[in-house]
Amino acid sequence: MIRHLLSGADLDAGTATLVLDTAAEMATVAGREVKKLPALRGRTVVNLFYEDSTRTRISFEAAAKRLSADVINFSAKGSSVAKGESLKDTALTLQAMGADAVVVRHPASGAPHRLAEWVDGSVVNAGDGTHEHPTQALLDAYTMRSRLGRLDGLHVAIVGDVLHSRVARSNVLLLSTLGAKVTLVGPPTLIPVDIAAALAPGTDVCYDLDAVLPDVDVVMMLRVQRERMGDSYFPSAREYARRYGLDGPRMRRLPGHAIVMHPGPMNRGMEITPEVADSPRSTIVEQVANGVSVRMAVLYLLLGGNNR
Ligand code: ASP
Repeated sequence: MIRHLLSGADLDAGTATLVLDTAAEMATVAGREVKKLPALRGRTVVNLFYEDSTRTRISFEAAAKRLSADVINFSAKGSSVAKGESLKDTALTLQAMGADAVVVRHPASGAPHRLAEWVDGSVVNAGDGTHEHPTQALLDAYTMRSRLGRLDGLHVAIVGDVLHSRVARSNVLLLSTLGAKVTLVGPPTLIPVDIAAALAPGTDVCYDLDAVLPDVDVVMMLRVQRERMGDSYFPSAREYARRYGLDGPRMRRLPGHAIVMHPGPMNRGMEITPEVADSPRSTIVEQVANGVSVRMAVLYLLLGGNNR
């Protein structure tokens, strides 16, 4: 097993499949009355969040606790980070506390990679700027596999604000490793030139959502990340929704078996309508539940749980 999980590209097909299979075993724990395993008893997991998060932070916390690890939650607000303490000094503090794993979210792309150079424990990237979010890609792959029975040969459309999406980047990398075909869909202003080829050969780009829908097994809607937009990338929210929003009529153009995903948080009414988000095709709530099992698997495998 690898020591850190920083990028979707860190996982080859065998390792990614091992994570998904282990997550499936972890999922059985969620159905028990006592939702706990002793696997990481005596180990310390630090959640180091420099950026807001709802699902990811709670999910990592639940995952570590279900494996009986000691969990320290560190949020940049209210810590010495607010006084200007550098990431390196924070890393040295964590090191001194004997953290076995550090789960880090940071607004700067590449911050988890730097952290991995400074601490002895495992580092898990829980989202760095617009760069990557590998555990989201793993939980998405897990959700596709459990709904559709396979990943190899699936056609997945990733739709919307690709430019600012770490979810999109990690998904392209992981899905192509696992044999799925990805088409990136969105306005030209939100799909970086050359991104498809740079991430994974075989990835397509299409600017016409309606043309792609009848041909996909999965449509993954991305949040429009207004907080990262200095400029205006499209004329208006209404115009965006009209061309790239998934609404009822568009959903009905999907093949009967196709599923609709979204990593959350959603801009309901913009990239996705409530009718779609709350429909039986939507896996949005399942994705959250699967996130705990997948993060349990990641922590368990990184901390050597399978070797003991
Ligand atoms: N929650 C995801 C992330 O942190 C997706 C999003 O924020 O749109 O990247």
